[in-house]
Amino acid sequence: MIIIMLGAQGTGKGTVAGILNKKNGWIQLSTGDIFRENISKGTELGIEANKYISKGCLVPDEITISMVEKRLEELKDEKGIILDGFPRTLEQAEKLDEILDSKGKKVDWVINLETPRDEIIERMLNRRVCPKCKSTYNLKLHPSKVEGICDNCGSELIIRADDSDPEAIKKRLEIYDTQTKPLIDFYNNKGIVIVEEISERINRFAEEACQDFMHRIQG
Ligand code: ADP
Ligand code: ZN
Repeated sequence: MIIIMLGAQGTGKGTVAGILNKKNGWIQLSTGDIFRENISKGTELGIEANKYISKGCLVPDEITISMVEKRLEELKDEKGIILDGFPRTLEQAEKLDEILDSKGKKVDWVINLETPRDEIIERMLNRRVCPKCKSTYNLKLHPSKVEGICDNCGSELIIRADDSDPEAIKKRLEIYDTQTKPLIDFYNNKGIVIVEEISERINRFAEEACQDFMHRIQG
């Protein structure tokens, strides 16, 4: 089962992917997390990717696609893979189809999370992340039990560098509109999009929303 999480920044893609991972053991493949891990380790990929990420730009397709292709190769025996943050351009989506096709697989479902734009910026500013286990929190909507500490692993929570820069946030949302939104039509044409209007719901009722997805996916 290959599932894509689509939706703008801060809509809760990572949160939903995390729940689906816990419930079903499906593997979460987050391109943002892989990039950040490489940046913190100072790898060649990380240094290159950070030139774009720090400015709020997309990492070039060539770099991103080959990174994902490699990771998918490592995960080939997994029964479920959730792509979180990939694809984000039409070229990435087309290339993903080719890669999966060559393995006799396909994208099974696309979960499109929609949130009103004015909520999104607030969500990004209030987002806190665990650098170690990648859990995501929101100061207002779903805070950690102890302020500043990850519920899951006890590490100190941080603000992502690109979330603290309003210019970078604006740029990322513009790029979402122009580059990523067209993917909704791309996958709608295949009839595999599940839309969830999230707003507050995903935070309070994330578990419930995931059960809805499971019914749709299995039904
Ligand atoms: P967000 O959804 O808040 O932008 P992510 O963690 O998904 O956060 O991604 C962080 C950054 O990593 C993005 O702003 C972009 O620079 C880069 N990135 C992640 N996924 C991709 C992708 N599929 N293609 C190009 N760049 C990507
Ligand atoms: Zn943690």
